[in-house]
Amino acid sequence: TGSKPDISRAKSAELYEKSKTYFPGGVNSPVRAFKSVYGTPLFIEKGDGCYIWDADGNQFIDFCGSWGPLILGHNNPKIREKVTEVMQNGMSFGAPTALENELAELIIKNNRFVEKIRFTSSGTEAVMSAIRLARGFTGRDKIIKFEGCYHGHSDSLLVKAGSGLVTFGETSSAGVPKSFAEETIVIPLNDTNAIEQAFAQFKDQVAAVIIEGIPANNGLIIQDEEYVKFLRKICTDNGSLLIFDEVITGFRVGFEGAAAHYGIKPDIVTYGKIIGGGLPVGMYGASAEIMAHISPDGGVYQAGTLSGNPVAMAAGIATLTELNKSSFYKDLNAKAQGFVESIQRFATARNYRFKVFSVGSIFWFAFTDKEKIQTADDIDAGSMEKFKVMHRELLNRGIYLGPSGYEVGFVSAAHTKVELEKAKRAIFEALDLVFKK
Ligand code: PMP
Repeated sequence: TGSKPDISRAKSAELYEKSKTYFPGGVNSPVRAFKSVYGTPLFIEKGDGCYIWDADGNQFIDFCGSWGPLILGHNNPKIREKVTEVMQNGMSFGAPTALENELAELIIKNNRFVEKIRFTSSGTEAVMSAIRLARGFTGRDKIIKFEGCYHGHSDSLLVKAGSGLVTFGETSSAGVPKSFAEETIVIPLNDTNAIEQAFAQFKDQVAAVIIEGIPANNGLIIQDEEYVKFLRKICTDNGSLLIFDEVITGFRVGFEGAAAHYGIKPDIVTYGKIIGGGLPVGMYGASAEIMAHISPDGGVYQAGTLSGNPVAMAAGIATLTELNKSSFYKDLNAKAQGFVESIQRFATARNYRFKVFSVGSIFWFAFTDKEKIQTADDIDAGSMEKFKVMHRELLNRGIYLGPSGYEVGFVSAAHTKVELEKAKRAIFEALDLVFKK
């Protein structure tokens, strides 16, 4: 089989021309602009189950799932009904509602890692607030983050590694004051030496170490359990808090996220995406003792006009109720693992330099022959050209992946055997084309 003809993007192209007059790059979040893949960004009109349709009427099996929230697929009837029911009573009060209690109870009663929580409206806000809480709780200013982890776009976290092995970071965005970056130490993942050195160099100054439960924003950089346990210990030994950013992994790899996956108790956990069932929700939580530092109980200020919004809470309640059913994760993860294993078998049989890394229903296609990828530096930037070819061939075969080779994909409960078979065949064809001489 050869390349398929490109799908029609006439309507999307027209909408894109217009959107460029309204928004920088024509989008409201940068990666949507398809800058690292072929063609015009697709404007999506509709989603149902594991399918989406664009403005030109092209249908795709979707493995992006709105970047993670849609673990039950698009337009899930249970979420839609709950949201519609709650909306009949109004959409925002800026006052407490019983719905917040209901979602909080679902989370706290079924999660060993949080005793008290606070809802926000995005993952960025949740993480930004968690950092402030760690600083307020410890009375220290510096934080340690890892190269290859993304934690949203707050100032303290738009920081990349500086020139030395252990120095404070450099801003990774214009507009972030240098003085902010100086409070963030950026080190490589999977390197016990680097973090020991950081703690030695900034003794008694580190408020927190923040890591993605399983780093999934720059490929899927799976850490060894031993290393994550080491992080837990070195934080405890130094009086620093360990923050697990579980905005992707929370309620994805299991109801209790990566913390349960590794059997590690972080001091503060952040969630987002899935807890909002596709509506804007974030959350951070910790022990009652740590959370007592949040205003109005404590001195760490954090607020939000739409925090705990009833419609968003309704979507979260409907979603988590489904996820809390026994065997939900067992079934989803088994289905996803079957899918990725057969793709790997195909690629291995043909000697392609291609690996599928995965945890549960998260997967990442890597054009590499490395057995493990555990630091950002392990990723070969040149391999992204291959992803670009694959992405185009997959779109032309009705398969939608996030528009960057650094992004992970998600299998949802709405993907059935039929769609996964179809997707596999398309992926096999695309791989053959990527690797053809
Ligand atoms: N943390 C992690 C681990 C994320 O993956 C993201 C978003 N991809 C964020 C924080 C920021 O969340 P949001 O985009 O909702 O602000």
